[in-house]
Amino acid sequence: MTATTLFYILITILIVNFIIAKVLDFLNSKHFDDAIPAALKDVYEKEDYEKSQAYKKTNARFSNTTGLFSLMLTLVFFYVDGFKYVDQLARNYSENTIVITLIFFGIIFIGSDIVNTPFSIYKTFVIEEKFGFNKTTKKTFIIDKIKGLVMTVVIGGGLLAVIVWFYEFAGNNFWMYAWGIVALFSVGMNMFYSKLIVPLFNKQKPLEEGELKSAIQDYAKTVGFELNNIFVIDGSKRSTKANAYFSGFGKQKRITLYDTLIHDLETDEIVAVLAHEVGHYKRKHIVFNLTSSILLTGFTLWLLSLFVSLPIFSEALGVAIPSFHIGLIAFGILYSPISEVTGLCMNMMSRKFEYQADNYAKETFSAPPLISSLKKLSKNSLSNLTPHSAYVFMHYSHPTLLQRVENLKN
Ligand SMILES: [Zn+2]
Repeated sequence: MTATTLFYILITILIVNFIIAKVLDFLNSKHFDDAIPAALKDVYEKEDYEKSQAYKKTNARFSNTTGLFSLMLTLVFFYVDGFKYVDQLARNYSENTIVITLIFFGIIFIGSDIVNTPFSIYKTFVIEEKFGFNKTTKKTFIIDKIKGLVMTVVIGGGLLAVIVWFYEFAGNNFWMYAWGIVALFSVGMNMFYSKLIVPLFNKQKPLEEGELKSAIQDYAKTVGFELNNIFVIDGSKRSTKANAYFSGFGKQKRITLYDTLIHDLETDEIVAVLAHEVGHYKRKHIVFNLTSSILLTGFTLWLLSLFVSLPIFSEALGVAIPSFHIGLIAFGILYSPISEVTGLCMNMMSRKFEYQADNYAKETFSAPPLISSLKKLSKNSLSNLTPHSAYVFMHYSHPTLLQRVENLKN
C-alpha cells in the first residue's frame, strides 16, 4: 500500500463515520413528533412536552452545525499537512522524544480546545439557559475550564510521557508496560475518583441524619448491603438536571446523590433509585465493566504496537520522521471503526445491566416508585420519549424510558 492510499483511507474513515452518525441523527429526528406511547402519557403536561420537542430540535440543529464544522476543519487540516507543521514546531523546541510528543499533543489539544470553546459557551449559556437548565455562572465556567486544563496536563501529559518512555526502551513491547500502568490507573481512578477528583469541581458532604438517611439505611439492611458512605454533591451549582451514581468497591464504595435529585424526588423514589444502584453492585456490573475495559485497553495497545512504528503512517500524514505521536494519530483514526463496534457491544451489555438493576430494585424494594422517579427524571431533563430504534441500538447505554417502564410493570 502506498502512503497516498493510506491517506485517502484515513479521510474516507473520517467521512464515513460522520455520514453514519448523521444518518442516525436524521432517522431519530424523523420521530421527534411521534405520538407519545400510552404508558408515558403522564410524563409531560402539554406545555412541557412542547418545550421538550423544541429542546430536541434545538440540540439536533446544534449538533449538525458543530459536527459539520469540526469535520470540515479536520479535513482541511489533513489536506494542508497540518500534522507536518505541528511536528516541525515541536521539534524546534527540543530533541527529546518525550518533550516533542508532549508539545505535539499539547498544541493539538489547545488548538482544538480553542475551536470548541465558543460552541461549549453557546451550549451552556444559550441553549441550556433558554430551556432553564443552566445554573453555571461565567465564573464557574472559567474556573472549570482552567481546572480541566490543569488536570489534562497533569494526568494526560503524565501518562503520555510514561508511555513514550516505555516505547523508548522497550520498542514494540511497550504495550505490555503501558497496559500495566493504564490498568493500575483505571483501578485507582475507580477507587479514589470521588475522593480525589470530584472535590476539585464540587462540594460534597455526608447525607444528613433524617428521614431520607434512615429510609436508605433501612433498605440497605434488608439486602445486607454495608453502606456507610452516602454523599450529597452540589450538582445544582451547574445544572438543574439530576443524577445519582455509585463508585468504588470494597471499603471505598460510596453512593453520591445530586442535591437536585433530593430536591426533585420523594423519599421512596430516591430509595428506589438507590436500590437500582445497589443492584449494579450486587450483580457485579461494576467489576465487569472495569475488567472488560482493562482487557479492551490491552487489546488496543497490542494492536497499536503492531502498527505504530510503520513509516507509512508518518508518510501518509506528510511527516518525514516516523514517530510514536504521528503513529498514534493515524492509528487512532484507523481504529475508530473498531471502537464503534466495541462501543456498540458495551452499550448492548450496559442496556442488559440496566434491566438487571431495575429488576433488582423491583424485587428488593418496589417497582412503582422507581417508575415514577424515572418519569420525573425524564421530564426534568426534557428527554426524548420517542427515539428511533436504530439510534437507540447504536447510542443508548440505557434502555428507553418506555422499555424500562414496561419491564418494571411486567
Ligand atoms: Zn443503572
